[in-house]
Amino acid sequence: MSVKANQETLGFQTEVKQLLDLMIHSLYSNREIFLRELISNASDAEDKLRFEALKDDSLYEKDTDLKIKIDFNKEQKIITILDNGIGMSREEIIENLGTIAKSGTKQFFDSLTGDQTKDSQLIGQFGVGFYSCFIVAKKVEVITRRAGENRANGVRWISEGENDYTIETVDRPKRGTKVILYLRDDADMFLDGFKLRSIITKYSDHISFPIVMDEEDDIDNKKEKSGEETVNSATALWARNKKEIKDEEYNEFYKHISHDYDDPIAHIHNKVEGRHEYTSLLYIPSRAPFDLWDKEQQHGVKLYVRRIFIMDDAKQILPSWLRFIRGVIDSNDLPLNVSREILQQNKIVDSIRLGCTKKIMSLLKAMTKKNEEYQKFWNIFGKVLKEGVVDNSDFKGDLSQLFRFSSTHEDTDEQKVSLKDYVGRMQEGQNSIYYVIADSYVTAKGSPHIEIFKKKGIEVLLLSEPIDEWVTTHLSEYEGKTLQSANKGELDLGDIQSETEKKKKKKNSEVHNDLIERIKNVVNDKVKDVRITERLTTSPACLVSDSNDMGRHLEQILKASGQNIPGSKPILEINPDHPIIKKISSEKDDDLFSDWSHILFDQALLSEGGQLADPVNFIKKLNSMIVSMSK
Ligand code: ADP
Repeated sequence: MSVKANQETLGFQTEVKQLLDLMIHSLYSNREIFLRELISNASDAEDKLRFEALKDDSLYEKDTDLKIKIDFNKEQKIITILDNGIGMSREEIIENLGTIAKSGTKQFFDSLTGDQTKDSQLIGQFGVGFYSCFIVAKKVEVITRRAGENRANGVRWISEGENDYTIETVDRPKRGTKVILYLRDDADMFLDGFKLRSIITKYSDHISFPIVMDEEDDIDNKKEKSGEETVNSATALWARNKKEIKDEEYNEFYKHISHDYDDPIAHIHNKVEGRHEYTSLLYIPSRAPFDLWDKEQQHGVKLYVRRIFIMDDAKQILPSWLRFIRGVIDSNDLPLNVSREILQQNKIVDSIRLGCTKKIMSLLKAMTKKNEEYQKFWNIFGKVLKEGVVDNSDFKGDLSQLFRFSSTHEDTDEQKVSLKDYVGRMQEGQNSIYYVIADSYVTAKGSPHIEIFKKKGIEVLLLSEPIDEWVTTHLSEYEGKTLQSANKGELDLGDIQSETEKKKKKKNSEVHNDLIERIKNVVNDKVKDVRITERLTTSPACLVSDSNDMGRHLEQILKASGQNIPGSKPILEINPDHPIIKKISSEKDDDLFSDWSHILFDQALLSEGGQLADPVNFIKKLNSMIVSMSK
C-alpha cells in the first residue's frame, strides 16, 4: 500500500477510546441523538465563523448564506451533515477529533466503575458530542477546511471508531465541514427523509441557522429531488415570544448548549428592557456536571450580542456560586468586540449579573414550594449554593431561605430542614438557632455537645460539610435569631434553662473546685481550662472551644489544607453526675488519677472526631484501667 506523503494514521487518546466504547454500549436505545450532536457542532461552527468574521469579513469567502445541510443516500447507505462554518485546520482536527480536551477528563474516566448501567448514567454528565456518530456509523469521514485557508489546505479525517484515525491533506474549495456517516447495517432506518426530518424537528428545531434538506417529490412512488427546503424554525429560541415556546423546545435547546442529555429541572426566560436591554434564558440542570468541583471547570453562560454568538463560558455573567447554571445571555448594549477582559469590569455586565442572580433567586424560591423538586435540586447543588453567603453578602437573606440542613428533628442524613422550619419549632424562651459541626453526619448526631439539647427536646442543626464552618460564620443570624454553635463558648440556653439549673451549676462548680484543679494540673498543657459542664447528660466529658477562638473543626480543616495556623487549646468540660467522674474524684493514687484525666481528655477528643496525638498510649492506659477495675 502506498502511503501518501501527507497522510498519517494516529491513535486516539485513551479517553477517546473509553468514551467510544462506553457510548456505543450505553446509548444504543437512543441512537437518533447522533444527529442532534452533529447539528449542534455544525451550528457552533457557524456561530464561530460569524464571530470571527466580525473582525475579518473576508472569511465569508463571498458566501454569507450560513446553513446546515443534511443529505442521505439510500444506495450507498450514507448520511452527510454539511456546514459552511469555521471549519478545522489539520492541527485543530487532531486536537478536536482525536483527544478530549475538557479539563478533568482523566479523573472522570478513572471514576467509571466498569458497571455498564452505572457508567451509562455517568456519561450523560460528560456530554457525548461528535463521537456519538459511531453509534450508527461503522465508518466516519470528515472533510473540512478552515475559513480563510487556501483551498489546498483541506483535511480529510477517516476512522472506524476503534483505535485510530487517518488524516490527509485534500483540496477543498469550500470552507466548512462535511461529515459523512457510513451507516452500520442495523441503522438503515435513518436512511429515510421523513425519519430525518422528524429527528431534526424533534431535537434541533431551535437551531438558529436553517437546517435544509432536499425537497422530495413523491412521483409514482419514486422520490425525486426538487430544490431545498428548511426543516427547522431557524430563529434563535430565546428571541421568540415565550408564550409560543413549548417545554420540549426549551429542553432541547438546553441540551444543545449544555451537552447534557437529560432534561433540566427548570428554566427561566426573561427579556429586560430599559436602561440595559438583554434577554436571558437560564437553566438549572438536573445533575451536576462532571467537573463541578474542578477549579478549571469551563462554566458560565453563552454570551451573544444582538443574536451574534460572542463566547462560551462567560464566567463574569454569573457569580461562581451559580456556576451550575447553563444558558444564554443576549445583550443589546455590549460592543460586538467585547473580550473577556472587558467583561471583567463593565457596568453593563454588572447589571446583567445582578438581574440574572435575582431572577435565579426567585426561581429557586418558587421551587421551594414544591418540596420534592427542591430537595432534588438541593441534594445536587446545595453545597455550591452555600458558597454564596461566603462570597456575597447582598444575597444572604435570599440564600438563607434556600438553605436546607440535617437536624436532630429528622431521622435521615438528608438535608431537609430550612431555617424557617427550625424557627417555627423553636421552644418558648429559645433565642438562638443551635448547630453542631463535625466531620460527618454520624459524628455530629452522636456528639456529646448536644446531649442537653436532646434531653430538653431542643432541635440542633447537624452540619458536616467543610463549607459549613464558613456558612455559619457569614450567616450569623436568621430573622433576628443568632446562629449559635453547640460546641463553642459557655452554653447559653437563654430562658430555657430554669433558675434551679443555673443555681445547680454554680453550686457544682464550687463543690467540685478541688477536682477541677487536680485535673487541670494533669492536662494543663493540652487545655485552656477545665470546668463543670452544662451540656452533658450521659457522657463524662467533652471539649469545647472558647467563644472567641476558631472552632476546632475549622482549625482541623485549615490545617489539613496546609495552612499554618496557631492552634488554640480547648476547654475540657466534665460531667459531675457521671460515674467515672464520681469515681475519680475520690481517687487517692496520683498516678491513677493522672491516667484517668488523660483518658477523659482523649475520649472527649475522639467523640468529636478528633485524632489522638498518641493513640497507643491511650489504649495502654485504658487497658490497664479495665484490668485494674476487673480485679
Ligand atoms: P464539544 O462539541 O462538546 O466540544 P465534540 O466532541 O462534539 O465536543 O467536538 C469537539 C470539537 O470539535 C468541537 O469543540 C469543535 O471545536 C470541533 N468540531 C466538531 N464538529 C465541528 C464542525 N462541524 N465544524 C468545526 N469544528 C467542529
